[in-house]
Amino acid sequence: MTSTLLDLNSPHLGFGSSTRSTSKLTPFKRSNHCPICDSNDGRCSKGDEIILCLTETYDVGIINGYKLRKLSKDNNWGVWAPHSVDDNYNSVNWQTRKAIRDQQADEERRQRIAKELPIDQRDHLYRKLLSDLSLCSMDQGDLDRRGMSQSEIKGFNAVSVGQFQRVQNLSSDLPGVLPGGILNSQGGYLWPLYDVHGQIVALQLRKRNVHQDNRYIWLSSSTRRHPDGNGPHVNGEIPLAVYKSFGPYSRIGLVEGTGIKPFLTSTRLNIPVIGAAGGHVGLIS
Ligand SMILES: [Zn+2]
Repeated sequence: MTSTLLDLNSPHLGFGSSTRSTSKLTPFKRSNHCPICDSNDGRCSKGDEIILCLTETYDVGIINGYKLRKLSKDNNWGVWAPHSVDDNYNSVNWQTRKAIRDQQADEERRQRIAKELPIDQRDHLYRKLLSDLSLCSMDQGDLDRRGMSQSEIKGFNAVSVGQFQRVQNLSSDLPGVLPGGILNSQGGYLWPLYDVHGQIVALQLRKRNVHQDNRYIWLSSSTRRHPDGNGPHVNGEIPLAVYKSFGPYSRIGLVEGTGIKPFLTSTRLNIPVIGAAGGHVGLIS
């Protein structure tokens, strides 16, 4: 069985002034399920007398004989301890809690999807946005360096933006637009993602000056201050990028990534290509 040693006095877990300096935490895996949320993917773990549950972080009463004591210092885990006292007020089992959580998640998903701007309006507004902007020589040079010809650069349809780029007459329901007529953008360039009907469903942005690991972002209206802003999702999913060449074809390309790679594959091989973001499943805005 795998186990992890964690320093319980570390600010990470925040067990305060425990006399024990370390305690063994065993992640719940395989047939060993978290008694609070039933997960077994290693996200929750068991200590000597406590359960660290990543799913349940609110005091919702007694679950399977455990009660929430506190949160870990980073607020990520609920720290649950056995509840031995007789008063089993509000006692529920994990099945009931899971059903409630699933129901809440379903409802939140339904509401998010209901708020999405319809595709034909996104297409219309994104085309307007792209036509109002142009590609600066610095970004043009970047695409040059990546081996794109002038006609390929033109076909890719990228435009340069500044940080919090001002835009006009765009609905703040359009993913990427913030109240007050600005884009939730950083300095870099944007390009359109098309669906299978050739309609623009989302924009992606390549930042100019950042660390490599988060150079690409989806244009989204969801921010810390506006957490309810629309993300790039289509029917609750991160969109695919469909690049279609004309003419009869007998093959379709599948490429990881939603930008230059699938675009050039389609253009140069003259086949339709579907690009999907890496880590496609489970991305939440
Ligand atoms: Zn759990």
